[in-house]
Amino acid sequence: MCCDDRKMASHIVGYPRMGPKRELKFALESFWDGKSSAEDLQKVAADLRSAIWKQMSEAGIKYIPSNTFSYYDQVLDTTAMLGAVPARYNWNGGKIGLDVYFSMARGNAAVPAMEMTKWFDTNYHYIVPELAPETKFSYASHKAVCEFKEAKAVSIFFQLSFKILNYLSPMQLGVETVPVIVGPVSYLLLSKPSKGVEKSFSLLSLLPKILPVYKESISELKAAGATWIQFDEPMLVMDLESHKLQAFTEAYAELESTLSGLNVLVETYFADIPAEAFKTLTGLKGVTAYGFDLVRGTKTLDLIKGGFPHGKYLFAGVVDGRNIWANDLAASLSTLQELEGIVGKDKLVVSTSSSLLHTAVDLVNEPKLDKEIKSWLAFAAQKVVEVNALAKALAGQKDEAFFSSNAAAQASRKSSPRVTNEAVQKAAAALKGSDHRRATNVSARLDAQQRKLNLPVLPTTTIGSFPQTIELRRVRREYKAKKISEEVYVNAIKEEISKVVKLQEELDIDVLVHGEPERNDMVEYFGEQLSGFAFTANGWVQSYGSRCVKPPIIYGDVSRPKAMTVFWSSMAQSMTARTMKGMLTGPVTILNWSFVRNDQPRFETCYQIALAMKDEVEDLEKAGINVIQIDEAALREGLPLRKSEHAFYLEWAVHSFRITNVGVQDTTQIHTHMCYSHFNDIIHSIIDMDADVITIENSRSDEKLLSVFREGVKYGAGIGPGVYDIHSPRIPSAEEIADRINKMLAVLESNILWVNPDCGLKTRKYSEVKPALKNMVAAAKLLRTQL
Ligand code: GLN
Ligand code: ZN
Repeated sequence: MCCDDRKMASHIVGYPRMGPKRELKFALESFWDGKSSAEDLQKVAADLRSAIWKQMSEAGIKYIPSNTFSYYDQVLDTTAMLGAVPARYNWNGGKIGLDVYFSMARGNAAVPAMEMTKWFDTNYHYIVPELAPETKFSYASHKAVCEFKEAKAVSIFFQLSFKILNYLSPMQLGVETVPVIVGPVSYLLLSKPSKGVEKSFSLLSLLPKILPVYKESISELKAAGATWIQFDEPMLVMDLESHKLQAFTEAYAELESTLSGLNVLVETYFADIPAEAFKTLTGLKGVTAYGFDLVRGTKTLDLIKGGFPHGKYLFAGVVDGRNIWANDLAASLSTLQELEGIVGKDKLVVSTSSSLLHTAVDLVNEPKLDKEIKSWLAFAAQKVVEVNALAKALAGQKDEAFFSSNAAAQASRKSSPRVTNEAVQKAAAALKGSDHRRATNVSARLDAQQRKLNLPVLPTTTIGSFPQTIELRRVRREYKAKKISEEVYVNAIKEEISKVVKLQEELDIDVLVHGEPERNDMVEYFGEQLSGFAFTANGWVQSYGSRCVKPPIIYGDVSRPKAMTVFWSSMAQSMTARTMKGMLTGPVTILNWSFVRNDQPRFETCYQIALAMKDEVEDLEKAGINVIQIDEAALREGLPLRKSEHAFYLEWAVHSFRITNVGVQDTTQIHTHMCYSHFNDIIHSIIDMDADVITIENSRSDEKLLSVFREGVKYGAGIGPGVYDIHSPRIPSAEEIADRINKMLAVLESNILWVNPDCGLKTRKYSEVKPALKNMVAAAKLLRTQL
């Protein structure tokens, strides 16, 4: 009783697993390397979980999630729960252990891993379940129940809130959690048919087979004392055909009797929920609560206002799980108060817009971050506090001091001169609705460029980076830490560039690169030199498995105080008589791989970056760099979830790219590079980028790319589909590469084809890169003689 009055109606959808200093990453990698035992790993994991539960409990969160922890991925955890292990992993039934689990995630000596793909429009990746009509399901991982019980056993020291009794009371109450499970319909819709399964197979036809396992798990949770359960059904925000919506209705009707006695939350996130899906969701049997993303879902708010089922709970996701900004508490509170009028005081729960998995962990570990900027931010740990503050305010216990310091931070962000740069604002605003295109068409440009560059047919090049040696990383690190002088640093990098240039000359590559030795990361390198960006020390976000990224924070109007790459590129050009390619990251990729401002539309920020990069392109041209590559590795990645929003995104994204190079002469050759291989649906946009040469990743999907090539033929630009996979240490033979180029030549004119690897070489060793490139050049030369 005494503690419940602190627990207002507050809920967290999910929480980062890695730990504030990536403790899980290091524990996993050490275990995988055989340097520590399974018990060591389990201990780190259990400590992380209990720290999170305690933190939420102490903050006063009422609905605390469990089973959002994972050794790898929550979809893979669901695959384990269902016992849906593909046959090649030789699992013999029973419970799934770490060995089988990690084999599915990462492969083993004998078999490769299962496929991994992006989780909706986040940078998180999940392991795609492989299912077939004959897949057998069994209750093979009781993880959800184990975590629920584990939380219950956690001992917590509650600080009693009664004024007089303000002392620490060692009550071992444990933490009552809401177990979270990926919902059955989203699970199936996120799966793919196993190899060789006939096309007519419908994944949803497996619903009757997986529901019995869900029932077993639910029953066990009930028996363990759970009173709430959360099913994540994010697929509900997608454009779903009616038979898919129907599957939700059927699934929950089937689960209804098992769920009786439990409060059941169906959680959605990442976008507005379409009106039809809203109807389906609010009509589901056995479900008592609905969770919505109200940060991205502004239209969802209208749906709720238009009618919400009586007596059901609304979990209102007003605190952004996808970004690092402090919540505008006053604005959220007024939204919540309005919602309270609709659903009733006791049925409104304050929540996050999505799992906090997609934001950084804790601001406490950012002592070096500028104080003012820090006051504008909230990472996962701070968001937990925000959620609770909102819930308390709703319940009439507003923490005035907290709210007013939040209001002060919001105001400082609005008025800060470091956020606003009038000139940049004006220049970017002028771009909207305009069209920027080079005046001459691509064929004529290529002719002009060829007269200047004089390249052979099937010209060879690479995508930019060369191997990043330990020595190189050390030099960069020491320079950053001011342990070595600028002079020593510049000389070291210069030496590296010279080595890379010589190597390429020896290999007889036609268009050279400087190798990017000065860059730690293709976005960070530019962000560090542009105004409007901030960097964190520990702002890591899980990307897949143990891998994390640390996105820069774009907090202000972006401008370029001075040239960023000209020094290195012209130095590299001075070392060779061959053409040196300048190397830039494009505006869309910089945007998509950063935490972006939430106080202006994405396209405005993108236009600002585009203008900064335009200056860089023009400075490179002035410095005598005749070929400039502008990487847009993440163009496809930024595509919105809903089809209705695709055209708008692609329009401003592609426009931003064109802005960067609209000012160059016909004779300057603009390349772009893209990593992702699902290009078919955006091919027109890629052509609309109007680059002179497009290099793309192609190692795994030749047939799929055929249509892209064909369009390319019509368009006339140069195309360089990667001729070998740089993700693998394997060295392709010259014959193999020649064979591949020949296949391309069957579809493409020889005068537009470029010969290059799939992507940058920075993760490879020189012992792999040298022979591979040697074979690549040999293949190109051989085919030249046969044309
Ligand atoms: N120029 C970059 C490199 O070679 C491109 C990397 C990428 O597209 N991801 O490393
Ligand atoms: Zn790439």
